[in-house]
Parts: sequence; structure tokens; C-alpha cells
Amino acid sequence: YFQRRRRERIASAQARLRPSDSRPIELRSDDVLNGVVGLIGNTPLIRIASLSDALGVEILGKAEFLNPGGSVKDRVAVQIIDDAERRGVLRPHEGYRIFEGTSGSTGISVAMVARARGYDATIIVPDDMAKEKLHALVTLGADVEQVRPASIVNKKQYVNIARERALAFAPALPGADTQLQSEMTPVVHGFFADQFENKSNYDAHFSGTGPELWRQTNGDVRAFVSGAGTGGTIAGVGRFLKSKREDIVVCLADCEGSGLYNKIKHGVMYDHREKEGTKRRHQVDTVVEGIGLNRMTKNLELALPIIDDAVRVTDPEAVAMARYLVKHDGLFVGSSSACNLVACVRLARKMGWRNGERIVTVMCDSGARHYSKFWNDEYLQKEGIPVDVGLVEKMLE
Ligand code: PMP
Repeated sequence: YFQRRRRERIASAQARLRPSDSRPIELRSDDVLNGVVGLIGNTPLIRIASLSDALGVEILGKAEFLNPGGSVKDRVAVQIIDDAERRGVLRPHEGYRIFEGTSGSTGISVAMVARARGYDATIIVPDDMAKEKLHALVTLGADVEQVRPASIVNKKQYVNIARERALAFAPALPGADTQLQSEMTPVVHGFFADQFENKSNYDAHFSGTGPELWRQTNGDVRAFVSGAGTGGTIAGVGRFLKSKREDIVVCLADCEGSGLYNKIKHGVMYDHREKEGTKRRHQVDTVVEGIGLNRMTKNLELALPIIDDAVRVTDPEAVAMARYLVKHDGLFVGSSSACNLVACVRLARKMGWRNGERIVTVMCDSGARHYSKFWNDEYLQKEGIPVDVGLVEKMLE
């Protein structure tokens, strides 16, 4: 009986591999969706009244915090898993375990989609990440391994540990009869999701977020603003929008400690910490979680040729923007969204736009993911980061 049940489960899982099943094409759907994965993507775009009215420029934010896993990264997780299933390196309900190293939301999305699709997940995280993200990972049934934060060039850095753990498991052989294999002996296969180097990340945005934004604005969009953590969003959305209209300005929002602004402006990812000779090189030291980079990744490589401009955003500015949006719009966003919105204001001012030009950006996650750090005034005070909404008011004067 159990063997039969198992075969039925596998057959139904395999029948599900058609990607259109999991993500409806329509922006709104009255259809019954296919489980939690069916809720991913097709997020609404909202006008941010306080900023738009003050600037005379339409500031539009894509509400990615409405994804079921709470962030834009749900799109990436489902694309990585769909693509791997299509290549035959992941098969549902056959003892596959997905590994990822992440301080951001990707772990939560991978854990959630893994559960929905019949996989186990191990997420390696730095031990200083916001507690609410850790709780979400554990609640979603992931095995969580906390390690000391370290530079990416260090073997003990969480991304490197995740890769190593995945490789230590029996690799999946494309085309091998793993069903038969695992019926005879319990074989566990490892799969490294690898959001930084895996091009499925870019594809999720090129085939999802980008086209959605294009449809939602009817092509009436002057600029796209985004931070980069892996580079997937800015590369995928940026390239899609440019393929439609070459003159759309793609602008990077860069946070403190990140080398990307320098890379765009001066061609080198010069890291001031490296110059000062401290051990923290290659780490992005900011209260803004999820964005900032000091090294090249495959996803970022795809973005570099299409980024037209870059704007630097300080921690106090991002903190101020988040408070400003709650005060004026009742909009409770996370740190990278706040950083993106500061950059939207800067870009509008810099370009001298004031005739209703439309700038679109991504609101990656909600403030609820950030109570213990970015949204904790006591914590910020200890870190020496002022909380002063006046900074945004000045920016808008
Ligand atoms: N915001 C948040 C909250 C994130 O977790 C991430 C991903 N690390 C980003 C923004 C950046 O997106 P991307 O990785 O596509 O550059």
C-alpha cells in the first residue's frame, strides 16, 4: 500500500512540473491556484502618494512583500527548483535535500517552496541575522545551521559551507533511475540552490517581475531603481525593461559598505575597508539587510552592462525613509525597500524630473522581518544610527 501511495505521489508531483501550473499568467486570477506556490508573483504595483505628490514624479513600488513567503525571493526559489526539476537534478519525494547559504530572505523562500514541493532544506546562516528570519526558517521546517559571519573568501563563510554540504551528499545523476535506486537503498541527494551564481535567479525576474512591471505601467516608465544583493533583480528586470524601451534609466541603489557604487561609477569595486586593512573586507557592513555586494557574481555580471546610474544611500537615510512612509502612507516596509525609495527620490531630483515621470522600484519585504534590528530604535541607537524622519523631509524640500 505504501509503495503504491508513494508512486502516486511521485506521479502527481511529476505531472505538476509544467511551470505554467504554478504561476498563473494573469495579474489577477479568479482561478483556484495550485497551493502556496500558486500565490507567488503577480504582485500589485502601488503609487506612493507622499513621495509622488511632493516630487511631482510618480513613485511606484511593486509590493513584493505580498508573496506568500513574505519577499521577492519566493520568485527565485520557485524558479531555481522548477529549472532544476526540468534538468533532472531535483526530483520530488525522492530524498533530495536543498542547501542554501543566505542571510536574507532566500532561505525562507527556499524552505517554503521545498516543503510545498516535497524536498528537505538545510539553510546555513550567519549568527547575527535578524531573529525573526531565523524563526521563520525553523517554523518552515528547515534545518538551520548558524555560523560566525565571515568574508566570502573564507571557507567557513555560510555560502561556502552550503556548497560544501551539498557536495558531500550523493550527487544526482541526470537521467539515472533514482526512483528505483532509492527504493532499494535510501539515497539522499544534495542540491545547492546557489542564488548568487545560479542564472535561474535572473530568469525569475526576466520572465516574471520585469514583464509584470511592463504590463502594469503599460510601458509608461521612465526609470527602474533597485538595490543588488545577488544582482538578480536589477539584472532581470533591468534587461527586460530595456529590451522593451532602450531609454529606460536603470539605477542602482547602493547601501553603506557596498562596493557596487564604485564599480558602476569608477569601474573598480574599491572597498575602503580593504584599504584600511581590517579583517571585514568583502563584508557589507550596514543595517540594511539583503543588499550590497563587494564581489562579482554571475547574476551581477548580467546587470553591469545595463546599469546607467548609481545612487548611494546611507543607513540613517534608509531608516528615516521607513519611518516617513509609515507616518505619511501607512506603509510598513523593510530596509532594502526603504533604501530603494530613497534612491528613487535622489534620482528624480538629480534628473530634474517633475512632470509626472514614472519611476518604478521593488518593495522586497515588509518591516515585520526587521523588528529586531532596522525597526528597533534601541538597537539603532546602540549602533550609533540616528532615527530622524527630518532627513527625508529635507530631501523632498
Ligand atoms: N531585498 C531583500 C530583503 C533581499 O533579501 C534581497 C536579496 N538578498 C534583495 C533585496 C536583493 O535582491 P537581489 O538578490 O535580486 O539583488
